[in-house]
Formats: sequence, structure tokens, C-alpha cells
Amino acid sequence: MNAATAIPTAFDVQRVRADFPLLSRSVHGKPLVYFDNANTSQKPAAVIEAVDRFYREYNANVSRAVHCLGEEATSAYEGARDKLAAFINATSRNELVLTSGTTQATNLVAYSYALPRLKPGDAILTTVMEHHANIVPWQLIAQRAGATVKAAPIDERGELIVERFFELLTPEVKLACVTHVSNVLGTVNPVREIARECRKRGIPLLVDGSQAVPHRPVDVQALGCDFYALTGHKMLSPTGTGALWAKKEHLADMPPFFGGGEMIREVRFDGTTFAEPPHKFEAGTPNIAGFVGLGAAIDYYQSLGFEAIHAHEQDLLAFATERLREVPGLRIFGEAAEKEPVISFLVEGAQATDLATLLDLQGVAVRSGHHCAHPLMQFFGVPATLRASLAFYNTREEVDAFVEALVKVRKLLM
Ligand code: PLP
Repeated sequence: MNAATAIPTAFDVQRVRADFPLLSRSVHGKPLVYFDNANTSQKPAAVIEAVDRFYREYNANVSRAVHCLGEEATSAYEGARDKLAAFINATSRNELVLTSGTTQATNLVAYSYALPRLKPGDAILTTVMEHHANIVPWQLIAQRAGATVKAAPIDERGELIVERFFELLTPEVKLACVTHVSNVLGTVNPVREIARECRKRGIPLLVDGSQAVPHRPVDVQALGCDFYALTGHKMLSPTGTGALWAKKEHLADMPPFFGGGEMIREVRFDGTTFAEPPHKFEAGTPNIAGFVGLGAAIDYYQSLGFEAIHAHEQDLLAFATERLREVPGLRIFGEAAEKEPVISFLVEGAQATDLATLLDLQGVAVRSGHHCAHPLMQFFGVPATLRASLAFYNTREEVDAFVEALVKVRKLLM
């Protein structure tokens, strides 16, 4: 097939790529093709420079100092909260707890919201396609409370069997948890519909948005969920940044999870009182520089616009899927009707890790392994897959280079 058919013109991908310094490097003497974006994204210069500027010009701790640097640092850190609140359409900045990532966000809900409410015989409902960060915290607290964790099934295409999810929303379920987008399959789950059914039954819903926020506009009010967890490093920001959005009434009802500085009103040995949410959940010095970077990342997303990002990514997804189907013996895992640009696959007769290692020698970075989704691997009956996960700064030419490299390394292993 002719790989060089038109790239959408509304989106100048070469101009965008110029914003990402790392993309111009080579690996093992070959131009880098970075297709490990679901693992972590690359960072635009605007983010790198914002972090650099923080340390060079106004590094100070937040909230504690009245001096100029402290005020500038606090204003940038709290400014990131404002930007993130607007980015996901939270009704209030106070509904946004800044965390180190999704893992801390789901654990916060587990220990502060769910555990105090769980009784023996209760259950938490999740799905077979979840990342371990949306399974293991529930298992840990269920074990403590004498509760169980149930998992709704998926079908061979990698779509959630929604009717089964609804059937499993029985009265003993005290919390339902679902990923917005699967990190392995790219499947987009019908979160609005799921939230509607959960509301009908009075069951709160947590959505893992880690793989959604980098690709699509998220409106937590329109989704109608109770909790939304996200991680910054997959959305152009530094590692160690993320957030838990939660409805005000939930945050007001939740006891603190971590104790320490920043989260108190007054500490006394005869009774400590706590700050209002979200600060009640933000003990200790946060990743200030990281959140300064996250604020710059949101500005960057908004300068491009999700319409253009989505169109380009969907074009890449369709193109890459079509090209991969040309590779003999290749099986794709995840063929949902609605997908983000994540393609998991295996090639008959070749181990995933061997292929990933050989692809790296060709300059192509893909992930191989279980992708922190053991139950999903068990469902498909495989120990691992390769995963090519694309971002808006990738190109059709890179897809061609990847497929050509794959065909070449496959032959070496046959
Ligand atoms: N949930 C999903 C769907 C993910 O893809 C990831 C990261 O791979 C996580 C949760 C965990 O994110 P973090 O390690 O940044 O907390």
C-alpha cells in the first residue's frame, strides 16, 4: 500500500514536533520512533522551561512563606490547580486534590472513602481490563473489611460487556470502578452510561482517567461520576503529578489519609483539627515544580485544541492498524468500536520481549510485558503483548518506519 497518503492539513505535525526536544534524538544510530506514550509522554519545551524557570527564578515552598518567592511559588502551584479544574470542568478548584498520580488518587479513595464504609459481605465492582492501580487498592481494603472485589467481563474485541457490569451492580456493591480508556486495548468505555446506571442504584463511581485525559476533552460534570483519577506524566507533565477530582460532598465526608504539615488547622495533643478540602488531603511538601510543569502542559494542550489532536490521532490509529494487519502472523488485541491510539499485538512465533528489544535496536520504542494488567492478560491467555501507543506528535512516516522495522526483526526471529 502507499504509506505516504495525505496527513491531515489542519494539524501541522512537524511544527508540533519541533516543540518536543527529545523527538529529534536518535537511538542506536537510528531516528527515534517513540511509541510508548501510554507509558509516559514526552514533554514539550514549554513544560521543560516552566520547570527550569521555577528553579532558577522563584523556587520556594508553597503556602508557608509570606516572602515574595513563597508567594510566587504558591501562586504558580495553586494556578495549576485552577487550570486543571477548568481542564476537566470541575465545578470548583476545591474538588481537586493534587496527588503524585493516579495510584495515589485511587489509594486515597480506597483508604479514606471506601474502607470506612465497607462491611463484611460488601463488594467493590471493577472490570477485567483495569490497570493494577484500579484493582489492587480495592483488594487490599476488601481484605481488611471482609469484603470482596468483583470484576465485570469483557468480550473478545476488548469491549466491556456493559449489561454484565450493570447486572453486577447489586446492593452489596459500595463502589464501582472503571477505566475511561484501557491502557492495553485503547478501548473507550461508555462512562456516562455507566455513571447513569450507578446513580440509579446509589452506587458511587470512580473513573480512572489516566489514558483518557491525554487524548480527549474530559468533562467530569457531564460524565456524572463521583471520582475521577488522573496522572500528569502521561499528559505532557513531569512525573509525580496527578489528581483526584471528587464531588464536594465526598471530600467533605472523607477523613484525611496522610497526616503532617499543610493539612491541618490546629495541632493540639487534645485534638487536632484539619484544613478544608482539598488541602486536608495534601500533607507534606508537594511536587511544586512538577505542578508548575503541569500548568504549562495544560496551556500547551489548549493551544493545540483537542479537536485537532483527536483528528490526527484517529488518523494515525487507523493507519497504523491497517499497516500492522499486513504483517504475517500478527494478532491485534483490542478492536473496540471506539478506541484511543493504543495497539497491543503479538506476532506468531516471536516473544514480545525479543521483538521489543530488536525494535529498540532499530530506534523504535514500544512496550512489551503485561502492562500492569495481569487479569487482562489472563483473559486473553497470553503472558504479555507488545504495545504501540501513539501521541499527537507522531506521524504516518513513523508508523511506516515501525512496521518496516517489525517486518525486518520478525524475519530475524523466524
Ligand atoms: N491507570 C492506568 C489506566 C494507567 O495506564 C496507569 C499507568 O500506566 C495508571 C493507572 C497508574 O498511573 P501512575 O503510575 O502514574 O500512578
